[in-house]
Amino acid sequence: DVADLPGVPEWLPDHLREDGIEELYPPQGEAVEAGVTEGQNLVAAIPTASGKTLVAELAMLSSVARGGKALYIVPLRALASEKQAEFEQFEQYGLDVGVSTGNYESEGGWLADKDIVVATSEKVDSLVRNDAPWIEELTCVVSDEVHLVDDGQRGPTLEVTLAKLRRLNPDLQTVALSATIGNADELAGWLDAELVDSDWRPIELQKGVHYGQALHLEDGQQKRLAVKNNEKATAAVVRDTLQDDYDDDGNLEEEGGSSLVFVNSRRNAEAAAGRLASTVRPHLTGEERERLADVAAEIRDVSDTETSDDLADAVADGAAFHHAGLARGHRELVEDAFRDRLVKVVCATPTLAAGVNTPSRRVVVRDWRRYDGTAGGMQPLSVLEVHQMMGRAGRPGLDPYGEAVLVANSHDELDELFERYVWADPEPVRSKLAAEPALRTHILATVSSGFARSREGLLEFLEQTLYASQTDESGRLENVTDDVLTYLERNGFLEIEAGELDATSLGHTVSRLYLDPMSAAEIIDGLEHWQRHAGDADSGTDERDAAEGGFTTASELASERAEASGDADPDEISALGLYHLVSRTPDMYQLYLRSGDREEFEMELYEREDELLGPTPSEFEDSRFEDWLSALKTARLLEDWAEEVDEETITERYGVGPGDIRGKVETAQWLLGAAESLANEVDADVARAISEARIRVEHGVREELVELAGVRGVGRKRARRLFEAGIADRAELRDAAKPVVLAALRGRRKTAENVLENAGHRDPSMEGVEPDPDVEVDTA
Ligand code: ADP
Repeated sequence: DVADLPGVPEWLPDHLREDGIEELYPPQGEAVEAGVTEGQNLVAAIPTASGKTLVAELAMLSSVARGGKALYIVPLRALASEKQAEFEQFEQYGLDVGVSTGNYESEGGWLADKDIVVATSEKVDSLVRNDAPWIEELTCVVSDEVHLVDDGQRGPTLEVTLAKLRRLNPDLQTVALSATIGNADELAGWLDAELVDSDWRPIELQKGVHYGQALHLEDGQQKRLAVKNNEKATAAVVRDTLQDDYDDDGNLEEEGGSSLVFVNSRRNAEAAAGRLASTVRPHLTGEERERLADVAAEIRDVSDTETSDDLADAVADGAAFHHAGLARGHRELVEDAFRDRLVKVVCATPTLAAGVNTPSRRVVVRDWRRYDGTAGGMQPLSVLEVHQMMGRAGRPGLDPYGEAVLVANSHDELDELFERYVWADPEPVRSKLAAEPALRTHILATVSSGFARSREGLLEFLEQTLYASQTDESGRLENVTDDVLTYLERNGFLEIEAGELDATSLGHTVSRLYLDPMSAAEIIDGLEHWQRHAGDADSGTDERDAAEGGFTTASELASERAEASGDADPDEISALGLYHLVSRTPDMYQLYLRSGDREEFEMELYEREDELLGPTPSEFEDSRFEDWLSALKTARLLEDWAEEVDEETITERYGVGPGDIRGKVETAQWLLGAAESLANEVDADVARAISEARIRVEHGVREELVELAGVRGVGRKRARRLFEAGIADRAELRDAAKPVVLAALRGRRKTAENVLENAGHRDPSMEGVEPDPDVEVDTA
């Protein structure tokens, strides 16, 4: 009973009852018995949608009630705002909730007054590196989706961050929430935690496989589910789910419901949504169609792209797709419409399974293999992933039970899918820390922020990671650590003397900037190279190549530069060169070269090689040359964006979604900001040029619009229209004639008022103002 919870604030039981929670779910009860409200460490491995969030809240609220401060670590930025919104319900009881996203390099001082802070593991890592003082005041940390320590990209950060937090504050309560996995006990061992390992669910889940004309369920039941001629099995399942069920007397037994379809790529998600729209449309009521038309219009307003149009078309028919290439506004509109039961089917990629908090009657896992470049070809998804997707089936209180189905195309496949997924247990999670790129970053940070001052101290710290607790390969961690130390020393990030480790000034900067040391080395090399050669741009490649090589550390490069520079002209550094420089670092996720791209970008390369900062690798160095071209493609996208090429053209030209443009732009902004700091660190006289390139890419505008585009509510397109109407900067906007502003903003009064207000106008009202007819606005 919620009245019997030890250690929680006294208002909590009433608050929970208002939310319809009278009793804890069994795994929640186990967590309380294990002491989660009394400061005890806990690993809770529980299925999706079985109330993990409340376990976290019980831990955090009781910790705060004892005068403490809690941190909730999320794996994705998109989840941070979702969780923040959830925890803000406690603000009415005087708690303060803050979310920390965005800038990696700030120390987030304002978070010191918050009771609960939500942040990604990368952000927490960076706060620790920047010595945010309040980190030491934490009394409770919750790690959501902790099974992602298994992820090669981001797992090591979570692992190291938890180890650091626990080291900074030995009394810290650690609560780790996990999907059901094969080795939750190992996680509990690592974190000195009690374990709640349960597969209880608030609503029954039936897993199964569709094959032929039937749904084969795990309890042995076979339900007839006919596939019409010319219809795909997925469409048949979605159609069946939409139908109302009647009993033998013709009474409505169960109202039709929605489906979530998981596919293996963005393109497939879009194609499937397009096809399923025709399945859904006949089932919509007139009122639903009207409301969907409104949602579709809002989607078109988010951006002017083909993706946006395709999404709006599908949504108008009650279907949608959902993947990381969508703009955030798109995703939110889709999720809301699905929760409101307006959109009846969402086709999603598995990467977003964690993000879509949208239970549905049925889940269809249509593709169970996915293309994997490193492993070569199509690879089966893990049981853990498939079970996570399946766990989205069944809406408590609405459905009698949830059904999650895979789709088989042959009898053999039916058997295989039962073996592989329906009856299988999820895999154990394994630490990925011992990979060199992960250790390169984390070892520098660990030394730089003083967690370890010697090789022995470093190894002792690494002993506290999950990796150390799992490995039986003694010596491996030590060997990789030594390789990484050598790399860091050779590149001037660390000094090693008689076993003592010290970060150099450059090393400290790189760690605080949250850069991969290899990115920093690449940026410094590029800037140095430019500085040395800016004066002799005409002298051809031979001489340039001859000057290459020989300098191994940043400081050697710096002194070499000091001798050689002299005639460098900082105004000439090209934006494309800078975009290329940051695009070739390991911190930028480069665009792929599609077939045909190679030739196109080789041509580009020969035309614009002089602008690039550093020598082009030889074509015989296959993979380096390929990387160089991919970076050029990425850089060209950024350049197009900063040249005001419209979004639609960019998405077509580079084969990306609008969300990808945002992603690249944000990464470039961060890396150019870092490059600015590094330029100062090595005395390269280019910081101003970098700053300009950064601001242009941030707003996606040419030089002359930088100021206008920076006014809130303006953006790149409106800035251009205002400029064409004769308004050049913020001051001119503030003093401009209202009819001109209104016309430039295509007669949109609300927008015009907003913009004027943000520009500092005293009386932004547009009442009675008519657009100036002499202002010509391109309405394309
Ligand atoms: P998870 O975080 O495990 O995916 P959630 O915490 O989102 O799951 O819980 C799913 C739903 O169950 C939420 O709507 C939540 O309000 C509800 N819920 C959680 N605990 C209880 C409970 N003890 N009784 C009734 N409903 C609950």
